[in-house]
Amino acid sequence: MFNLARISGGIHPAGHKDRSAALSIAPLPLAPRLFLPLRQHAGAEALPLVRPGDRVLKGELLAASPSEVSAPIHAPTSGRILDLGPIPAPHPSGLTVNGYVLEVDGDERWIDLDAPADPFAVAPTELANRVAAAGVVGLGGAIFPAAVKLKQGTRHEIKTVLVNGSECEPYLTCDDRLMRERAEAVVDGARLIQHILRAYSIVIAIEDNKPAALAAMRAAAEPYGAIEVVAVPALYPMGSAKQLIREVTGREVPAGGRSTDVGVLVHNVGTVYAIQQALRHGRPLISRVVTVAGSCVTNPRNVEALIGTPIQALFDACGGLSKTPRQLIMGGPMMGTVLPSYEVPVIKGATGLLALDAHELPRAEASPCIRCARCVDACPMGLTPLEMAAHTRAEDLDGAMQAGLRDCILCGCCSYVCPSHIPLVRYFQYATGKADERRSASRKMEHIKQMTEARAARLAEEEAAKAAAKAAKKRKAAKPADEVES
Ligand code: SF4
Ligand code: SF4
Repeated sequence: MFNLARISGGIHPAGHKDRSAALSIAPLPLAPRLFLPLRQHAGAEALPLVRPGDRVLKGELLAASPSEVSAPIHAPTSGRILDLGPIPAPHPSGLTVNGYVLEVDGDERWIDLDAPADPFAVAPTELANRVAAAGVVGLGGAIFPAAVKLKQGTRHEIKTVLVNGSECEPYLTCDDRLMRERAEAVVDGARLIQHILRAYSIVIAIEDNKPAALAAMRAAAEPYGAIEVVAVPALYPMGSAKQLIREVTGREVPAGGRSTDVGVLVHNVGTVYAIQQALRHGRPLISRVVTVAGSCVTNPRNVEALIGTPIQALFDACGGLSKTPRQLIMGGPMMGTVLPSYEVPVIKGATGLLALDAHELPRAEASPCIRCARCVDACPMGLTPLEMAAHTRAEDLDGAMQAGLRDCILCGCCSYVCPSHIPLVRYFQYATGKADERRSASRKMEHIKQMTEARAARLAEEEAAKAAAKAAKKRKAAKPADEVES
């Protein structure tokens, strides 16, 4: 059934996965305080429901989702809310974000969890709503609310649920360990997603450098004949949805289009596991597996961290740091976020926590472009990064868009291969941010225009109604007395 069509471009960066992949997922001791940003997802900030001084139970809803494109926040353990206000954020700027500080009481007292006895007997919409209420977002780093994708089954014909176990970023092994250690739950989650989307088939795609994960997933899928577990070549960025779809199904997602346009819905394995936990056990998303790695980490491994745990606690659990890192990164080295300090907390999208030395980082000084076109060859989207960069440098956003910026997946392959060490992807991150700002400003303007027009229409209607009433009154007063009496 599957036409394995090689993706174009891509790179083979050194994996650095062996050490953390060799050890099982370790639990973390409870930190004394957890820091919980109200926005850990794509979309609007969650609305606070509890106040400083309130006692909360593990799994209790702390902040509600204000719209469909958002996600609620739950208490990762029991304790007392100390504060609601600015807390450290995993952002290079060092700016703070709005969030809760939770003082941990150590009792781990749960709320009553509610889950259906047989989720396969529950209507798909109800299951999608349960996933939304559990605060599940894309755990591969996309942090898009998972329920929004699950509701696509009502709008599109989904042929294939594609479970993304490729984990192509260097250093990261959290999905690898999850598939090895919790394979049955991941397969169960994939079947539940298939039920929700009414999809025909399930494909689980894993890079061929993870033989143990492939074996574990094949064994777990074996009782269900319709699930295919396929090995895909280890190539960065195989984990990008469009690349993976092309590789596995041979279908090309159109430029500017979505995976649903070709009847495929992609979920990362971590997300699939979180969905399974929500639907089988009623468990909200309050923890995740995080890879702690980099040459400055004494014992790299994967840990299961409560959301909100300060990253210092994760390094401590891995034997601490053997030397002072040149850079701390949340996520992978290609697409992750540079961290400003050790105080920032683990958030839902934190796939990895890297403490990197100078030799593990790209060279800082750039030299002029020599027009070698290596960036063009490496781009998996078939773009011309040097041309996009020239437009971006000239602040010509429209030109950059026309040159292909809207299709850029910010994978960083172009920067990685550039012999002049030009930070191409940084230009594109900047330009994409500007384009987002421009879009949201124009949406705001459109909204203001609509509100102004609606107000003007309402006022005109009121004026017309007043004038009509006045005219009716005048007519009544002008009628002859005999007409009024009759
Ligand atoms: S890889 Fe670097 S030097 Fe070569 S064309 Fe692209 S931007 Fe220029
Ligand atoms: S960052 Fe954008 S332009 Fe550069 S290789 Fe990736 S998709 Fe192509």
